[in-house]
Amino acid sequence: MRAGERHGSDALIRALRDQGVDDPRVLDAFRRTPREGFVPASHRAEAYEDIPLPIPHGQVTSQPSLIAQMVAALGLTGRERVLEIGTGLGFQTALLGRLAREVWSVERYADLAARSRANLAAAGVPNATVIVGDGTRGLAGHAPYDGVVVSAAAPEVPAPLAGQLAAGGRLVQPIGTGGAERVIAFTERGGRLLKGELVTFARFVPLVGRHGLSE
Ligand code: SAH
Repeated sequence: MRAGERHGSDALIRALRDQGVDDPRVLDAFRRTPREGFVPASHRAEAYEDIPLPIPHGQVTSQPSLIAQMVAALGLTGRERVLEIGTGLGFQTALLGRLAREVWSVERYADLAARSRANLAAAGVPNATVIVGDGTRGLAGHAPYDGVVVSAAAPEVPAPLAGQLAAGGRLVQPIGTGGAERVIAFTERGGRLLKGELVTFARFVPLVGRHGLSE
């Protein structure tokens, strides 16, 4: 950390800028959300490096610059209701909470959901709710969503997620399998998803569920 920095987030902001992340609202959300509160204690020293880190159950919290690109692709203004699939320990959930009006996040592992709720409370994110379940089914009770972000990979967008998007809503998901996925940003038009735009290439854990991959 350099002299005068409030906490390690400033070092991470520099790393994000070096990676070409320039959306001021996204950078501000990172500045207000210390990542050390969302990584396992054993990896806290690396929290402000732009690297993915392991979390329980063989899962991974994504590289911050990748999260920044995916969140930026939703084009949030602060008025939206957002659905996140794959909470992990809640870091991206917290960023979404800073950038949108309301966040619903679905995680299949109950212990990760419980830890992410505690992390979000400690970080002061009051507008994000974590639900345990199969996110490939979406969360019909709170639909429609202006934005959906899926943090695990599958060959296709699960049909329920497409169906729960609001008119003109955005959906960002890594598409593919085997650790070489294309992160695609889709837009809803007239009840269908338009052909998506490539955000970046990345390696994700599998989206395991009824409308995704099998265990
Ligand atoms: N956005 C998080 C990603 C965590 S890793 C971060 O960067 O910190 C992806 C998460 O997706 C894992 O916690 C995994 O358990 C979860 N996941 C995989 N398939 C799921 C499904 N069908 N429903 C809900 N969560 C799922």
